[in-house]
Amino acid sequence: MATSKFKRMLNRELSHFAESSKSGNQISEYICNTFLDRQQEIDLPVTKNDESDISTIQNKKEKKKSTPMSQITGVRKLRHTNSFTGNMPKYGVETAHEMELAKILCDIDRWGVDMFKISELSGKRPLTAVTYQIFKERDLLKTFKIPPNTLVTYLMHLEDHYRDVPYHNRMHAADVTQSTHVLLSVPALENVFTDLEILAAIFSCAIHDVDHPGLTNQFLINTSSELALMYNDDSVLENHHLAVAFKLLQEENCDIFTNLSNKQRQTLRRMVIDMVLATDMSKHMSLLADLKTMVETKKVAGSGVLLLDNYTDRIQVLQNMVHCSDLSNPTKPLDIYCEWTRRIMEEFFKQGDIERERGLEISPMCDRHNSTIERTQVGFIDFIVHPLWETWADLVHPDAQDILDTLEDNRDWYQTMIPVTPSGSFTDSKNNTPLDGETTPNEETKFQFDLTTDDDNASKDRGPDGSMKSSIVDESEPNI
Ligand code: AMP
Ligand code: ZN
Repeated sequence: MATSKFKRMLNRELSHFAESSKSGNQISEYICNTFLDRQQEIDLPVTKNDESDISTIQNKKEKKKSTPMSQITGVRKLRHTNSFTGNMPKYGVETAHEMELAKILCDIDRWGVDMFKISELSGKRPLTAVTYQIFKERDLLKTFKIPPNTLVTYLMHLEDHYRDVPYHNRMHAADVTQSTHVLLSVPALENVFTDLEILAAIFSCAIHDVDHPGLTNQFLINTSSELALMYNDDSVLENHHLAVAFKLLQEENCDIFTNLSNKQRQTLRRMVIDMVLATDMSKHMSLLADLKTMVETKKVAGSGVLLLDNYTDRIQVLQNMVHCSDLSNPTKPLDIYCEWTRRIMEEFFKQGDIERERGLEISPMCDRHNSTIERTQVGFIDFIVHPLWETWADLVHPDAQDILDTLEDNRDWYQTMIPVTPSGSFTDSKNNTPLDGETTPNEETKFQFDLTTDDDNASKDRGPDGSMKSSIVDESEPNI
């Protein structure tokens, strides 16, 4: 595995970035906390807040009513049993805008469909409308003998278990589901995946954030939440999303997999677990390293489609596909991307408000009085989103070129939007106050990781353009 070397590279680059400015330090902390799985590996300048003791946090935490460990929290009774027997709406949802919904759903195979509009037109049931449409288009109901009213009953029940939080809500689930539907259809993957794998991928996306409380794994761990206790601090939210989604299948008329064979059910469950657990952002670096390795050793059939001949390779591509969809906001049309950004920041700020109120250290990016939204987006793209999408685009070349172009245009737009004072230094975008030691836009170099498995390029230093060109092969492990 090439992961640890890659993590060290990112750490080193983030350390440089962190030292460059106050906002750079905050962005580095955000990226390390979210996308690396070992905080102790981080090589950031120590701040006095870093010394705060988690036990203090635990002492301050409010006494909560505890639930038995065996109980999956957040699961509620079905509200609409068999509500559609005999009389099912065409798109699975009751709406006064069926014609307009039909029109926008015609674009369901296209990248960048407006999920906020679909939400409005579907009576706030975007997840049910989009997933039902995808199942129909892909003939999954016939193939797996899924009764339509069971599918819609389950989807509505699932959708009801998404909370009304700014970002991790039913629109995000629908967005990730629709994005994966598009990625599955590219020419390079034609006939590569079985119907069962397609079913598993679409289902995984639909469930992947169910009952998300709008708080991060780290927050749940730091506050000794019931969920963190339940899952021993390991992929806390992702384990919970899976448990809730599988539990909901047990409600009356909700088991959409009832006509699958035992073997199919087992395989599907294994794949869904593997895909949803891989949406834990702390797994990002290892997923990306594996994907990069796969690209370097890519096998294609005569027709140009990918050859994936074992479970490890197949699930790896599916995990990365779902992960790409989960990190696809910056690749969408700019107005849509900006709305997602507004929402994720609002969710972070709400967590920051809770932390402030409880006297906890405010997590990076979560302080609404000290935010650098535009710069964060540029850092998020340069360090995380672009390296991932660039590698995905290599895998399915040239099918993702338009997506990559949009990502680069959006990155450049956010770069131009970084507020500047008359003296040329960057400002805090909310308060318009200068940030100490910020570089001017002209000094800003477009940073990108340029990963290669070529050992000759394993330079530990930056290239002349400021980018990091290095091998992801770990010296401590056998060469791949
Ligand atoms: P998930 O929580 O599974 O939806 O994974 C997406 C994660 O990626 C979010 O929780 C954020 O940490 C991060 N993320 C996604 N979009 C953005 C964005 N536009 N800006 C900053 N972070 C983002
Ligand atoms: Zn997500």
